[in-house]
Amino acid sequence: MTTMTAAPALVTLTPGGLPVCERLKEIFPGAQIHGLRGRVAPADVSFEHAGDHLRSVFQQGTPIIGVCAAAVLIRALAPLLADKHVEPPVVAVAEDGSVAVPLLGGHHGAISLSRRVADELGAVAAITTAGDVRFGLALDDPPAGFTLANPEDYKIFTGALLAGKSVRLENAVEPDRRDGGEGGHGGAAAGAGWLRESRLPLADDGPLTIAVTERNEPGSTQRLVYHPRTLAVGVGSARGAGPDAVIDLVRETLAENDLAEAAVAGLFSLDLKADEPAVLAAATALGVPVRFFDAAELEAETSRLSAPSETVFRQVGCHGVAEAAALAAAGPEATLLVPKHKTGSATCAIARAAAPLDATEIGRPRGLLAIVGMGPGRADWYTPEASAYLAQSDDIVAYRLYNELLDELAPGAIRKDVVRHNFPMRHEEERVVKALDLAAAGHTVSLVCSGDPGIYAVATLAFELLDRASKPEWRRPEIVVVPGLSAFQAAAARIGAPIGHDLCLISLSDLLTPWELIRKRVQAAAAADFVVAFYNPVSHKRRHQLGDSAAILLEHRPPSTPVVLARQVGRAEESIRVIRLDELTADDADMLTVVLVGSSQTRVMDRPGGNQWVYTPRGYASKPRSSLSGGQQPLPEGPQTMRGQQP
Ligand code: SAH
Repeated sequence: MTTMTAAPALVTLTPGGLPVCERLKEIFPGAQIHGLRGRVAPADVSFEHAGDHLRSVFQQGTPIIGVCAAAVLIRALAPLLADKHVEPPVVAVAEDGSVAVPLLGGHHGAISLSRRVADELGAVAAITTAGDVRFGLALDDPPAGFTLANPEDYKIFTGALLAGKSVRLENAVEPDRRDGGEGGHGGAAAGAGWLRESRLPLADDGPLTIAVTERNEPGSTQRLVYHPRTLAVGVGSARGAGPDAVIDLVRETLAENDLAEAAVAGLFSLDLKADEPAVLAAATALGVPVRFFDAAELEAETSRLSAPSETVFRQVGCHGVAEAAALAAAGPEATLLVPKHKTGSATCAIARAAAPLDATEIGRPRGLLAIVGMGPGRADWYTPEASAYLAQSDDIVAYRLYNELLDELAPGAIRKDVVRHNFPMRHEEERVVKALDLAAAGHTVSLVCSGDPGIYAVATLAFELLDRASKPEWRRPEIVVVPGLSAFQAAAARIGAPIGHDLCLISLSDLLTPWELIRKRVQAAAAADFVVAFYNPVSHKRRHQLGDSAAILLEHRPPSTPVVLARQVGRAEESIRVIRLDELTADDADMLTVVLVGSSQTRVMDRPGGNQWVYTPRGYASKPRSSLSGGQQPLPEGPQTMRGQQP
């Protein structure tokens, strides 16, 4: 079953905690291992100071499983504790995996987390909350697939239970199926077995009641109401229906039939609708997954439809969408609770399964293509957003060398069952087509490239292909572009601040751009005195462009203009050199080099250790010190002058 809670941070301060973290990572998809820098490797996230790090994770609302002494967690988090209803759960696990202790947020996830940890490790879950110990369950933290409708009544209700009152179970899930194992579809949990198998003092004439029902009912201090997620809502919508068309219809249909929103397991539709804004907006509004079937899967439900439609069949290849999707999702044993309901632009039908459904296991998701820039090649130079997309990917599509680099970059940050698709260099279009095909089939895909994906990289190609829309299904998946640190930024940072003023990026590759056009752009940059970053400066076959560009620039800026040759920045082989513009030749660079040419204002100064800094002033000091515009002599007072220039 899915829970809606975020993946926990698995925190350890010692290498001894790593094996337990690694096992837990397997059972909590998306969880990351946080390790103390210098002591715990490999970790997905490294931190310097345990207390600061734990506090920041806690404040972000991320559940914490600390494989460490409980006291470490208690001391770190104590100053922050304020409101148990919004704080994330915290669990301490012994390094040898023998005990899991729910420390904070017991009824907000810590007890269920501890139980899952205990199950996985064969550990003891050291549960101390009164209700749990007495009754073997947490009434305000029901298992996935159930929602407590009246949590405000929980305290008084539990008080009455602890005082010795008995409870009657009123179970709306069909009696013959309520403990019915797998429920036959999507791995759904057994009906309300968790209540029946607890140590609750059950009695048919009990003064207290627990109801499990899809119906809307308020409950009271004497009556707890749980909504099981057993309703599959099938929806359809006309192309371009208004954003509220589907959600309005679904809410109206639920209300008319007295059904609770919290009983909805998911929205389901035909895959043609996977990018229909009204369908997606409805799922977001309800906070449930939206999943899709293809026409053949829906057509298989025809015999169960209330009114199969030839018109719909001619349009989309199945005799109905809303009813068929609801039934396909709820499974072969399910009943159609609410037949097709229609407004001008949307349709909706509801099927009911005998046990809660895990929508994430049913049909296919919309699909997601993340076009991820990984920066120049250092693990701490790509963004947390990039690692989050990598961590959730079913597939990673990359140029072969980059896929190899990923192994070094992201130890453990990628799912073990991820499928890697390697492509040789130059096969950009094949790479992007593969990524689009996979995403259109419902996969979560990362299309990985170096630097920033929008700078001489695959993002543009993806949009060109989409614009041409060679395959209509490519329009369905969600597309996200994840920015990365580009080579020019990394190179500049290494050498100081050479792009302190206006900058121009020019690729010298004439593969896609004719040399004549590139030359014009170099001329324009030269005339306007831009700092210039040359990408793809030289290849085996293509050598004249860099020298020609230097000659053009020399017509407008001094021969001594500093040139930064930054090769393999951020990688083990990194080298950075500073030369003069009149020395620059094709021999100084290759395809792994980015070349930064200063403007007429760019200056070089010595730095300790015999190296140099390069920077381009913005002019803070230029008014009283007109000599600054003069040229390339080192500044008279080095660093002091730098400091003096701060605004
Ligand atoms: N998307 C990438 C650029 C890809 S084009 C980015 O934003 O950085 C390939 C060119 O980028 C190379 O020919 C080189 O000029 C430059 N480049 C990429 N990574 C580099 C690195 N680590 N060091 C130096 N130059 C790099």
